[in-house]
Amino acid sequence: MATILQAFQKLHPGSAKLYAGSLTTFPSGVTHDIRHLTPFSIFIDHAKGSHKWDVDGNDIIDFVMGHGALFLGHSYPALVDAVSEQVRKGTHYGASHEQELRWGRLVQELVPSAEAVRFTSSGTEATLMAIRLARAYTGRDKILKFDYHFHGWHDSVVGARFAESDIPRSVGVPAATLSNTLSIPQNDIKLVEERLAQDDVACVILEPSGASWGTLPLTEHFLADLRETTRRYGTLLIFDEVVTGFRVSSGGVQKHFGISPDLTTLAKILAGGLPGGAVVGKGDILSLIEFRDDAQWNESRRIAHPGTYNANPLSAAAGTTMLSLIGDGQFHAQADALNSKLVAGLNRVLEKKAIPGCAYGLASYFHIALGQECPRPKAGIEWPWEDGNLPARTPLPIAVALKRALLNHGVDLMGMTGGFVSGVHKEGDIDSTIDAFEAAVGEMQAEGIL
Ligand code: PMP
Repeated sequence: MATILQAFQKLHPGSAKLYAGSLTTFPSGVTHDIRHLTPFSIFIDHAKGSHKWDVDGNDIIDFVMGHGALFLGHSYPALVDAVSEQVRKGTHYGASHEQELRWGRLVQELVPSAEAVRFTSSGTEATLMAIRLARAYTGRDKILKFDYHFHGWHDSVVGARFAESDIPRSVGVPAATLSNTLSIPQNDIKLVEERLAQDDVACVILEPSGASWGTLPLTEHFLADLRETTRRYGTLLIFDEVVTGFRVSSGGVQKHFGISPDLTTLAKILAGGLPGGAVVGKGDILSLIEFRDDAQWNESRRIAHPGTYNANPLSAAAGTTMLSLIGDGQFHAQADALNSKLVAGLNRVLEKKAIPGCAYGLASYFHIALGQECPRPKAGIEWPWEDGNLPARTPLPIAVALKRALLNHGVDLMGMTGGFVSGVHKEGDIDSTIDAFEAAVGEMQAEGIL
């Protein structure tokens, strides 16, 4: 019988060929770290709804969903119409336009803490601006983040992939910059308090789902404790809701748990699958970007913010359409219900095959931890996880084998061990995915990988 790797190579000759060509153009043949897969990455030809088809004609149930941006799947008709119409009307006016105002108002309606909004072109740009705002507002340089929390790739937050940890690092980032970024383990409010007590931290930034979109979930009271502690020390609290915004609820984690940060960063679903991001939050903080009738302020105190593609009409058209469609929560109900079914099904397979591991998640995202014992959620899919009870990361060789084996069975995960369920996935997609998972882990057992 063919091994997982042999089957992968046999099923994807077209991708292998294109990848060989890509190696002469792109470092490692890819254009995003997360698309790097050995022995080659998969090349997609087209996509529709919850499926995509690769260049070899393989039909794949997609849980990457545009890195979490496609809450209504690929090429949702109303989004295609809105973007097509906008292309005909113009893609860049180099001026203000009504569509951006509609988009901003929708963000204010949905995100509870969004007193004011500033659009950027990506999530990385959003966290860059949020941190700059926090530094300018507080007059402090240091920022506090949590180990394994991802906030994009700019100098203040970058870490080495797969090893992002207590030592923020990346070749090419000046040591002086890194020395202003503190990173500590999540879920330990005493540690936060100790650090904030030095009165030099501008902001605490975190993924309010827990590290890596909830791969390491937060304990139940951590967000509320953080809110109270940051307030006490005059440190701003930034929720990075690039993934969780408009997903965990129509108003993100902050609406789901009723906790209000000072600033929030948004991207992905915000722009309906096109490029776009935003910083939203308290009006007096965002007012640092405003022009005033005061030359001295404008020249030396305000934060400058250009950006060719900020609120560009195409992203605004897609974003406005997306946010108007999902505001009532119906698509959330559908996606969340299917995700619960998926997580329960994956855990059933692990149980049945006596494989150490667990599946868990929140709302419409899921994670799979394999190769170690971890508690399976008893009811539903959600936290709270008790302290010290966190799922460990799946070892890389197991994760790679799972990614390949699932692709062989027509399922693509986000990264290697998780995924996003959209509002257009179907019951049949979930049933097929559970079957694919059973086949995949069975093959991994047969090869001694599990
Ligand atoms: N913050 C979080 C939580 C993210 O997951 C990401 C990207 N996955 C970013 C920021 C950066 O966003 P972008 O890729 O749009 O720059």
